[in-house]
Formats: sequence, structure tokens, C-alpha cells
Amino acid sequence: MSFRSFWRSPIMTAGQKLYEGKAKILYATDDPDILLTHFKDDATAFNAQKRGSIIGKGAVNCAMSAHLFKLMEANGVPTHFIDCPTAIEMRVKAVKILPIEVVVRNIAAGSLCQQTGLELGTILSQPLVEFYYKNDGLGDPLLTLDRLRLLDLATDDQVDQLRRMALRINDLLTAFFDQCGITLVDFKLEFGIDSKNQLLLADEISPDTCRLWNQTETDPDRRVMDKDRFRRDLGNVEEAYRQVLERVLSQAV
Ligand code: C5P
Repeated sequence: MSFRSFWRSPIMTAGQKLYEGKAKILYATDDPDILLTHFKDDATAFNAQKRGSIIGKGAVNCAMSAHLFKLMEANGVPTHFIDCPTAIEMRVKAVKILPIEVVVRNIAAGSLCQQTGLELGTILSQPLVEFYYKNDGLGDPLLTLDRLRLLDLATDDQVDQLRRMALRINDLLTAFFDQCGITLVDFKLEFGIDSKNQLLLADEISPDTCRLWNQTETDPDRRVMDKDRFRRDLGNVEEAYRQVLERVLSQAV
């Protein structure tokens, strides 16, 4: 084996493409318990009606997610993270992803404002945990507890556990981002179930999946450091992603 192919060997184990999403591709590896996630620069918004590319996004999201998954593990929150063989690839434990997007909100923004009339920036008296059906065809609708039961998407115990884990993750992330001079407005999580029926935090934690506001800016557009820059055509998207990563990596976990 040449030096180059030896160095590249983690990629060489990438097998069959299992799934291609909007921002990531999932590959099988020669170990059935391990999958390889490839982070793309492709960006979509509004259920893929808006498409584009954010140069360097794959590397930012991969490195940032790895750092924050380590933060979670260090604090007793189990995740699917194993390691990153390259800057845009993450080896993860094979799990069955629940078709539920768990959103936690600390400050009113986005669809919460659109659907409730709450003013952008309203500080919520306690974190709001919401469940959405991960189904692009249906536009990822908001779920009620009864709809979760009706569709048999998770057991009542799993829903309780998801809520507890989401709130714990929110506490850890809010404190961490605060140290970075960033306000964690809201974010989306996905969870998987492993072969021992344990719930693991999966997917990614990145500027694609979090609303992050720069604490040194008060202007409602200038403070935005996340995918809203792309969604709302605010410009300087790449620079904002790089800034977030730099601040995140500057804080030890
Ligand atoms: O659009 P909405 O206000 O409901 O989004 C709440 C949070 O969840 C935002 O941080 C957004 O980036 C994230 N989200 C996501 N993927 C989705 C929907 C929302 O990462 N499909």
C-alpha cells in the first residue's frame, strides 16, 4: 500500500452509499457497527426550495460537531460520534435514526415567530421543546404528543427521554456558547437508537442546525452567525461559519 493510500485508508473503507441528504452523505464501512458521514458544502433552505453552496461548510460543520459531541460525551450525554478520519468525514456508530426532529428554543425566532406572532428576540421564560416529523414530503410538520403516539414514532418513555436529553443538551450548549460570546437562540437535534436500544444524540450540531447570535452585535442582521445568513441573503455566510468554528475550537471541552 502506498503512503497516500495508507493515509487515505479511512476513506477507502467507505462502502455503499446508504443515504444522501441535503447536507450529508452516509456510507457503510467494512464494519457493520460503523458508518461514515461525509459533510457537504451544499446548502438548502425552505424545504430545499432555495439551494446553494457555502464554501468550507462541510469542514466547519464536521469539526464543530465533533468538538460539541466530545463536550456532550464528557458530560454524560451519549452520542454516535467516534472520530474524524478527514476534515469532512466523521465515523459514527450505526444507529436507527428516529424520524423526529427535536427543536429547543430559548429565544423566539424563525417558525415560532411566524406561527405564534411572538416578536423576534422575545426571551422565553423557560426553554421550549418541540417535536417535528422528519418528512420532507410533508414539509416536516410540528407534532403533538398524540400525533407522536398515533404515528407510533416513539414510545412515551422515549419521548420523555428525548425531552430530558434535549434540555440537558441545551444547558450544556447554552453555557458553552456563552463562553464563546455567542447566544444560543434555538437548535435542532436528531437521535438514533443503537443495538442495545439506547438513545444516542446523532446528526450534527453546527451553524446549519443552530441559531447563533454574536453577543457583541445588537443589530438584528449583523448579529446572525448561522444559516439564517444564507436563508435571508444576509451575505458573509462563509465568514460567519468560520468565525463560529474559531470561537468553538478556542474553548476546551
Ligand atoms: O425554522 P425553525 O424556526 O423551526 O427552526 C428552529 C431551529 O431548528 C433553527 O435553529 C433551525 O436552524 C433548525 N432546523 C434545522 N433543520 C430543520 C428545521 C429547523 O436544523 N429541518
